[in-house]
Amino acid sequence: MLRIGILQGDDIGLEVVPEAVRVMRAAARASGLPIEWLDLPIGRRGHAQCGHSMPAATVEALRGVDGWLQGPIGHNAYPRNDPTWINPPLRKLFELYANVKPVRSYPQVASIHKDVDIVFLREVTEGEQSGSVTLAGTGEFRPNDEVSIGHRVITRRGSNRVARAAFEIARTRPRRHVTAVHKEPIFKMTCGMFAEECRRVARDYPDVTFDEVLVDGFAMKVAMAPQRYDVVVTTNQFGDILTDLGAGLVGGLGLAPGLCIGETQAMAQATHGSAPDIAGRGIANPYAMIMSGQMLLEWLGHRRGLPAAVDAAARIASAMERTIAEGRSLTGDLGGTASTVAMGEAVAAAIG
Ligand code: NAD
Repeated sequence: MLRIGILQGDDIGLEVVPEAVRVMRAAARASGLPIEWLDLPIGRRGHAQCGHSMPAATVEALRGVDGWLQGPIGHNAYPRNDPTWINPPLRKLFELYANVKPVRSYPQVASIHKDVDIVFLREVTEGEQSGSVTLAGTGEFRPNDEVSIGHRVITRRGSNRVARAAFEIARTRPRRHVTAVHKEPIFKMTCGMFAEECRRVARDYPDVTFDEVLVDGFAMKVAMAPQRYDVVVTTNQFGDILTDLGAGLVGGLGLAPGLCIGETQAMAQATHGSAPDIAGRGIANPYAMIMSGQMLLEWLGHRRGLPAAVDAAARIASAMERTIAEGRSLTGDLGGTASTVAMGEAVAAAIG
């Protein structure tokens, strides 16, 4: 029995998360996997029900689940300087240190590049994003009205564990290659420490090849020839930017799933935000959220030794392949005319 939390988030989160649950339920039924679902308020619903966008009761309940689906948060809707800041503190609190983000192209979907199959790992418990690295207060401050200062934290432990996760994933893939992306010549201590730990971990994986690319050059190379990359590991802010770039190369944010993994728990979270420009119209692509849920089941299946969860994940992956190949139930960003619900229903129906 798995316990999985459902945190819908805001805007299109209210549309795509239910489709991910629909598909995961269908796969779990087909695979004989019992799941207990916990519906937990967060974001605007958290404010409305508990007076806080990250309610203490939700955080407490998350301590007892195996993993959860996290919809995007509509930050634009909150007052400036709202102290309730959700994703970075959640990742930090639960030590979900590696955000695993696959970027792959489909022959049937219009995209800038074809034959792309990259897995990005973005460190998400330290780096530049102040909310993730500061216990109290904020990592940014403004000593006077002319100057603002922000800091960046890189640790050996944080760098080592995300690098190790990257090599473990590379080991399961045909090309078995890891690329570390940083800017060591300029950020000698911070990027330097990240690079040192990547090199150190690489020595433990002689079966995986390894190289390093400076972040600016990487942006150019991945835009021109993404096919050359297999597994890419990088720090928080660089990863935030490069994974959106990666999504843009294969068809957009609707196609970019993600899983934040820790030692024992994981959070399924698509790369995209809450897309207020299309929210409430039933046209958001549920692919990214559904495939984030698929990644969660696969990860939990391997971690907990649950073949039924691995099987459920495989069923979702092949149902999604078939739905995309058939092309009849795709949302507008994929060239179709289907609604969010119709695409979710089609994927659920394709589960054998
Ligand atoms: P966004 O990812 O929400 O949207 C960027 C563009 O991609 C928009 O045109 C949107 O319509 C499109 N898009 C995104 N997801 C899509 C989907 N599933 N299907 C079809 N089209 C999709 O980024 P943004 O507009 O910069 O941010 C909107 C809000 O989301 C902001 O408040 C931002 O802070 C927040 N945000 C939240 C998260 C998160 O909670 N994980 C991540 C990024 C942004």
